[in-house]
Amino acid sequence: MSDRAEYRVITSLTNDTVKAVRALHMRKERDQTGTFLAEGLKFIGEALNQGRAPRMLLVGEDARPHSLLDRAKAETRKAGGDIVVVTHAILEKISRRDNPQTVLGVFDQAYAPLESLIPTSAPCWVALEQVRDPGNLGAIIRTADAAGCGGVILIGDCVDPYSVEAVRATMGSVFAVSITKTTAEAFVAWRRSWPGSVVGTRLDATVSHRSAVMQKPVLVLMGNEQAGLTNQLAAVCDVNVKIPMRGRADSLNLAIATGVMVYAATDDV
Ligand code: SAM
Repeated sequence: MSDRAEYRVITSLTNDTVKAVRALHMRKERDQTGTFLAEGLKFIGEALNQGRAPRMLLVGEDARPHSLLDRAKAETRKAGGDIVVVTHAILEKISRRDNPQTVLGVFDQAYAPLESLIPTSAPCWVALEQVRDPGNLGAIIRTADAAGCGGVILIGDCVDPYSVEAVRATMGSVFAVSITKTTAEAFVAWRRSWPGSVVGTRLDATVSHRSAVMQKPVLVLMGNEQAGLTNQLAAVCDVNVKIPMRGRADSLNLAIATGVMVYAATDDV
């Protein structure tokens, strides 16, 4: 049976479902619905591998047959999700791109409460203070996944990890890495029982990241893109380190610095 015969078909750009999915580009809408948009079969596959079926699967009428797409349809259906077939123009409208992915998924957001984290379950964790750039956050989530980190903790007023831009930059790791949101005050209190080293990163630190003692599990604390790590959080670190700046640049991009730190903290793993 063809998709058109089997599933609900939407062809109107002004259809309510289209409007609702497109609205997921806005944080207010994501916060209200607790959902987010992930684009492309790779993302859908990563989600399914983590046991996360979409609430809604949108399949372009021009989507090529693929075993992963069949699996996505079967698992969406089994989980009680909605499957809709849409036109290319609708995919363009939803993704705000000229060359959209032909399969999109609407997923539930997931946050792990701070108290539920088990520090010893991974050699390294990342905490970010007021990260503002969605591309940076997505790249950090991807890097944390690649390096085998336990999760990413967002402290204070951070960009939404479930924004379309951040999700795209994770390349699917958004489904694999635990994400936690907390305040600076709650983090400071929780950090007291951290069993390993808490390592802050500051441009004014005198200790190099290579010479610091890092006892596992290592909690790497990164600062805001403009202001850096605040004194409040630097003060609760066991050590603050600097990655040497050998050329004319005065700092590294936040995501790059995080990559250097998490691999330094885990290079004997
Ligand atoms: N103007 C900011 C400052 O004075 O800290 C620059 C912030 S930097 C672009 C963003 C974050 O990346 C920093 O807070 C720190 O966590 C990390 N970072 C960047 N370069 C670093 C370096 N050379 N050593 C340690 N951390 C670094």
